[in-house]
Order: sequence, then structure tokens, then C-alpha cells
Amino acid sequence: MKKRAGLSLRKRLLGVTLVPILLFGIIIIICSCNQLAKSVHQEVESGLKNVAQSAVYMFEEEFQGEYFKDSGSTGIFGEEAKPEAAMEILEKLKEISGADITIFYKDARIATTIYNKNGKPIIGTKANAVIIRDVYKGETERFYAETSINDQDYFAYYCPLYDSQKKCTGMIFAGKPSHYVSRIVLEGVLPIVTIIVLVILAMSVIMWQYSVRLTNAMKNLQDFLMKVERGNFTAELGEIVEQRKDELGRIGKSAVQMQCALRELVEQDSLTKLYNRHYGEIWLRKVIEESAGKNSAFSVAIADIDFFKKFNDNYGHDCGDLVLRKVSNILRKSMKRQGCAARWGGEEFLLVFSDKGLEESLEETQRIADKIRRLRISYEDKELGVTVTIGIIEGNPQRNMDELIKAADRALYEGKESGRDRVQVGSLKTDTASD
Ligand code: GH3
Ligand code: MG
Ligand code: MG
Repeated sequence: MKKRAGLSLRKRLLGVTLVPILLFGIIIIICSCNQLAKSVHQEVESGLKNVAQSAVYMFEEEFQGEYFKDSGSTGIFGEEAKPEAAMEILEKLKEISGADITIFYKDARIATTIYNKNGKPIIGTKANAVIIRDVYKGETERFYAETSINDQDYFAYYCPLYDSQKKCTGMIFAGKPSHYVSRIVLEGVLPIVTIIVLVILAMSVIMWQYSVRLTNAMKNLQDFLMKVERGNFTAELGEIVEQRKDELGRIGKSAVQMQCALRELVEQDSLTKLYNRHYGEIWLRKVIEESAGKNSAFSVAIADIDFFKKFNDNYGHDCGDLVLRKVSNILRKSMKRQGCAARWGGEEFLLVFSDKGLEESLEETQRIADKIRRLRISYEDKELGVTVTIGIIEGNPQRNMDELIKAADRALYEGKESGRDRVQVGSLKTDTASD
């Protein structure tokens, strides 16, 4: 389900970026093909016009006024002129220009470079009606982008031909087969299409990689937030988000800060900055569990400030708070690498020594009590001293948390009873016996 959500975001990302790129690419391809086809057609038209006009000029030069004089069997050539000479001109022009050329007498072909399937020039065939009307009868030059000759489509340019009396007696055709023109267009279009397709492909790959990185980072951030939501305050945000310099990276940083703030709210006592009772319980349960698994030793102690009420009564609540904070600082620093110090309630504190037997823990507890005894608290113009009584027991993973706390509490009570300012060792046996 989660995977599908990530994938759909990726798909959407690709959709909103690639679809416009694709559409843009297609539009560019269509426009450039059109533009290219138009300019090729214009070029072909002007080329054919030149060829047709050159042919007219050459014929007029060659036959010097006799051209198109109707004289018997040759039809159009004067007595001294020969049809072979006309063919020679046509072939030469074709060689230079690459265009087919035809000469018409009235509306019929009398010399041409276009051959039929049998290899014979298509002499005697007629121009189509539109061309006869426009060029021969209308006496105007014309370009046709699509005209069929000998079952083939041609780009064609027609010029009227005049005899010595300036009477229109025929036409000149210069043309190129349509497939030849299409090939030129295709050759021009192909590099453009190739470049555009390659650009689209490259952009697709870049976008794909970008969206994969982005969605993976988002997934990582989502997993992190879900862990925090479930109360996992030690969850770590992946480097894939941390290393990002963009908005997502900043959201990641905020999420980590939020995790710290939440952790403080949930785990910390706001006055003393020690762990609160809730977290102290979690810690102790975890230590009991680990001890059962590893068969390791641990100790539990409850500390209580002696005659704390006096600070409140004699100097005010603020003074009491100050004493709590000062004592808590010593507890936090002392317990830092050996376990946990939590505010159990009021002026009572829970100390859990992970991986430490009673002997070691007792020494450490006495050191802590000494430190507190030596502490001098400046409040207004006074120097105040403070002592604690601590009840300590050796932990036993077979006992639950409440049993351990009760035993430590009993030892604390004994300490108070026997004069305070001391560390009193208790035992679980006594505890169970009395219960
Ligand atoms: P004992 O030696 O028997 O422990 O005597 P005690 O005065 O320390 O104990 P008692 O339980 O009589 O008084 C504890 C007082 O701590 C009562 C309560 O008003 C005060 N107290 C509890 N929480 C706070 C706190 O957060 N700030 C301040 N200033 N006082 C608190
Ligand atoms: Mg108390
Ligand atoms: Mg007290």
C-alpha cells in the first residue's frame, strides 16, 4: 500500500514534467517539418522556374525564330532545325539541373526526358486539362505542387512558348518527382527529429532519476515521522533527506527538531531537566529485561532530600525549586554514563545503575551523597547546605518493577528513621517477606 503511494507520486511527478515536454517536442517536430517542407517546396519551385525559363531561352536562341513554325512532319521545328537538337538541349539541361524537361507543341509532348516502362519517351501524350487552360490557353507561367505524369506525381513548372509571331504554340515543363522532393524533406527533418527525440529521452532519464531520489527521500521522511509518531525518539533520519539542501532537507531538519522537542516533552521533567517518572519507569523496565536476557547485574536506588520542606517554609518556593535543580544537576551528571536519574516525584529521585552490582553502585551512591553534602547553594544573601537519604537495593530480573521500587523505598524509609543523610542498603527478601 505504502509502496503504491510512493509510486503514484513518482508517476504523477513524471506525468506533470514529461507530458508537457513530450507535447512540446511533438509541436516542435510538426512545426519544423512544416517549415522545412514549405521552404524545400519554395526552393524546388524557384529551381524549376529557373530550369523552365532557361529552357525557353535556350530554345529561342537555338532555333532563332524558326522554332514552332509548323512545317510538316516534324510538327514544330523549322526546316533547318532538327528534333534531335531539341532533345540534346533537354538532356543537357536535365544533366545540369536534375529536373525532367518536356517540350509541348500546343498541348502534346513532342520531346521529353520522361520515359515510360518500356524505356520510350512519352511523346504524343497530352498535358492535363487544367494545365492546358492555365498555361497554354491562359498564357501564364504556373507552378503545380502535385501533377500526375506517366502515373507519377511531380512538382512541375510550366512556361508558355511563343513562335516568331508571338503566338503561343506550346509549353515547356520542368519537374521533379514528388518522392524525390519528399526525400529531401525527410533528410532535412530526420536530424531535427533525432535531436528532439534524444533531448526528450535525456530529459526523461534526468526526470526519472530526480523523481526517484525525491520520492525515496519523501518515503524516508515519512518512515521517520511514523516512528516518531509511535514514540520512537531514537529513530534517525536518513542521509538521503539530511543531505538535501532544498525544502525537503529543511522539512527533515524541522522533523528532527520536532523529535527532540517531543522527546523533551515526553521524557523530561521541566523543572529539573532530569528524566520524568514515566521515562524512569520505561528505563527501569528495559534494564530488568536486559538483565534477564544477559544475566547481568543492576541496582535500584531512591533518593530523597532531607527536610526539604524547610527550604520552602523558611525561604519560599523559589528557593525550594533552586535546591531541586542544584541537587538534580549533580544526579544527572553523576549518572550520565552508568544509568538513569529520574525525578520520581516532589523531592524524590529514582537512580538505576545498569550493568552494576550492589557493591559498585553503593560506592557510587555514597559519592553522590557526598557531593550533595558538599554542595553550597547561594540563595539571596544565604549559603544553604543540603543532604539526601538514599535507599538502595541490588536488582533482580525475577522481580517486577514495583517490587524493586518498594524494596528501595523501604530502605530509604529505614535511612530516614535511623537519622537521615546516609545511604541505606535494603534487600528484596525483606520486602517480599513483609508483603
Ligand atoms: P523528610 O526528610 O522526611 O523527607 O522531610 P521533607 O520535608 O523532605 O518531606 P515532606 O514530604 O514533608 O515535604 C516535601 C515537600 O516538598 C512538600 C512539598 O510541598 C514540596 N515539594 C514537592 N514538589 C515541589 C516542587 O516542585 N517545588 C518545591 N519548591 N517544593 C516541592
Ligand atoms: Mg519525600
Ligand atoms: Mg524529603
